[in-house]
Amino acid sequence: MKLKTLEISGFKSFADRTKIEFMPGITGVVGPNGSGKSNIIEAIRWVMGEQSAKGLRGDKMSDVIFGGTSQRAPLNRAEVSITFDNTDRYLNSDYSEIRITRALYRNGDSKYQINGTTVRLKDIHELFMDSGLGRESFSIISQGRVESIFSAKPEERRSIIEDVAGVYKYKQNKDKAEKE
Ligand code: ATP
Ligand code: MG
Repeated sequence: MKLKTLEISGFKSFADRTKIEFMPGITGVVGPNGSGKSNIIEAIRWVMGEQSAKGLRGDKMSDVIFGGTSQRAPLNRAEVSITFDNTDRYLNSDYSEIRITRALYRNGDSKYQINGTTVRLKDIHELFMDSGLGRESFSIISQGRVESIFSAKPEERRSIIEDVAGVYKYKQNKDKAEKE
């Protein structure tokens, strides 16, 4: 599975539609302080279903919508799309290319799409379950996270390891079965 493109529009400092194409190999993002490097990573986390505004350095989710500058009026919508090459079927889907879109409006409306079809957040989470990507994922390690893993309580650390090892899905199924 490969990351192909990231399209950002109205998300944080990216007022204009910005398309990033990822080439084979390692991609580095460089730029002065405050130029939006971390916002790119946050756009990736957001489109993959991040639910915590705090985790995106905001107070409320609408803080991700471009809030305007002295030169430019605020926008009403943030939209991010991410496209993966899934020819190796790494993600549990029949599609060889998967494009996920998330949009949020100031009035609180939001939508998720997979390959143009509107889906629920749950479907996004399920797509990434056991992939090592997605919610609470450790494929993205932000500043301070390494320390927090080491200083976590044993139970927390266990849940982190279980998540990485792909045990999470089975635990969820077990909990569900026990409730039924
Ligand atoms: P550093 O090198 O310091 O880590 P960076 O390149 O990672 O910087 P970011 O943190 O991604 O920079 O970008 C911060 C910028 O994004 C700030 O200028 C901030 O004002 C702007 N920004 C964040 N949220 C919004 C928003 N909702 N609307 C407009 N601009 C925003
Ligand atoms: Mg940064």
